Amino acid sequence: MGAEHTGRQQSYRLFIGGEWVEPSKGGYAVVNPATEQVVAEAPEAGVDQIVDAVGAARAAFGPWSRRSPAERGELLMKLADAFERRIPELAPLVQAETGATMRVAQTLQVMQCAVRFRRYAQLANEDHDIALPPSVMPNTALAKGGLIGALAARQPVGVVACITPYNFPLTNMAGKVAPALAMGNTVVVKPAPQDPLAVLAFAEAVEEAGLPPGVFNVVTGSGAEAGQALVEADIDMVSFTGSTPVGQRIAETAGRGMKRLLLELGGKGAGIVFDDADVTAAVAGIGSTWSFHSGQICTAPTRVIAHRAVHDQLVEQLAAYARYLKVGDPLADDTIVGPVISQLQRDRVEALLDSGRQDGAEFVVGGQRPEMERGYYVAPTLLTGVRNEWRVAQEEFFGPVVVVETFDDEDEAVALANGTPFGLYDYVWTGDGVRGYRVARQLRSGNVGINTVQRNHEAPFGGFKLSGVGRDGGVFGLHAYSELQSIVWPS
Ligand code: NDP
Repeated sequence: MGAEHTGRQQSYRLFIGGEWVEPSKGGYAVVNPATEQVVAEAPEAGVDQIVDAVGAARAAFGPWSRRSPAERGELLMKLADAFERRIPELAPLVQAETGATMRVAQTLQVMQCAVRFRRYAQLANEDHDIALPPSVMPNTALAKGGLIGALAARQPVGVVACITPYNFPLTNMAGKVAPALAMGNTVVVKPAPQDPLAVLAFAEAVEEAGLPPGVFNVVTGSGAEAGQALVEADIDMVSFTGSTPVGQRIAETAGRGMKRLLLELGGKGAGIVFDDADVTAAVAGIGSTWSFHSGQICTAPTRVIAHRAVHDQLVEQLAAYARYLKVGDPLADDTIVGPVISQLQRDRVEALLDSGRQDGAEFVVGGQRPEMERGYYVAPTLLTGVRNEWRVAQEEFFGPVVVVETFDDEDEAVALANGTPFGLYDYVWTGDGVRGYRVARQLRSGNVGINTVQRNHEAPFGGFKLSGVGRDGGVFGLHAYSELQSIVWPS
């Protein structure tokens, strides 16, 4: 399935029940955020087709869940192989539809997808049931006493709707599909409307690997209708990554049917920088908000909380870093900051910047639209003098913007960091390990990095507060797609 990036226009089809299906509502254009050119047409699924995909996943669930974990693991490994063979074709496609720089496209957009399938293929082979010690139970009116054995067994949840955001289409999909399938669930994937093409093309690897029809289905659409119809359909669980308002709507709908939820939502990562911190290391970490995928990442340290003693030095170094970054064509080797995903997203970022201007923030770097003929660019922007109650400190930019607040003592730093509705990923930079740990334990945030923005993919990942419900990552991700079943017997 080639596309415009290879010089050839092509339309894509839905993948339902192991078949390529023409969309009942035609197609819509997927636009390259750097060139504003159409990459290809994506299918516009009708509600009937969403229901068909769920029906196919429901029919496939019984047999798939009864396969041995080893067989499922083997098929997922084959899928990772089939996907890797397609990387030379898929990396340019995902680059074109996301506008990611080639470095981001080749590493995090594709390689990480393969890594996730391999990791969960391996985890499928491990035993995830929990053996419990036998318990001596007394005679009761209910039953005779005795030595009673029990096991907490992990069972798949059933049909899982996997709804993903636009920033890392393949990698986010893999983070849901790989553990869900490894645990014995079947899936209907609904990628974001802006960049669904590589996920549709991924289904070719599913076919080649020989996954049974209906185990993996993909539906797409340009508006909220497809996602809504999927959440309302006969599914057992929604695994959603995206914005908090959409997550809240999904939770309301899913709650009526008691559908299980894994919600990875927005963030407004605080980066506390103490006066004993290695400021250069802090700058490198915070600077990733600009240099990594134009700030379109939910975990970025976008809200710096700087000790007054290091504030000026930190701002000076951050400003130098931001000015150094080349903004432009994501295909150019020296480009660090590519476009944001769409005109709509650029408008949102610019509107939020305007609110900062009106509130009185100082724009140390950026704030103006870069002069480009085409593309949805936002310049790396640094705002100082920010107060925590301002919108720029409370709302997500999801773009290359860092805001700086100041603090005088540790308690104030913690209060500022905790002072938003989000709680996804916070950071602490300090030369004092004990302080780093003490502060981390006070942060109302699902993840805390001390002196690093690096990840450990085996650690549980998820949010406190409005940043979500549940955890994925490593074995926690596998367990998220299971129900615990107690099995009890007399010995
Ligand atoms: P959106 O919430 O706008 O969309 C995410 C997905 O939900 C899309 O596939 C969208 O497709 C779908 N959707 C929208 N409305 C509904 C609905 N009512 N029912 C079901 N599905 C629906 O997020 P973005 O794509 O704009 O991504 C950016 C957001 O994602 C940011 O808030 C960011 O913080 C968050 N994010 C969180 C991460 C985490 O792990 N915590 C990681 C990455 C991003 P459509 O519009 O076609 O319906």
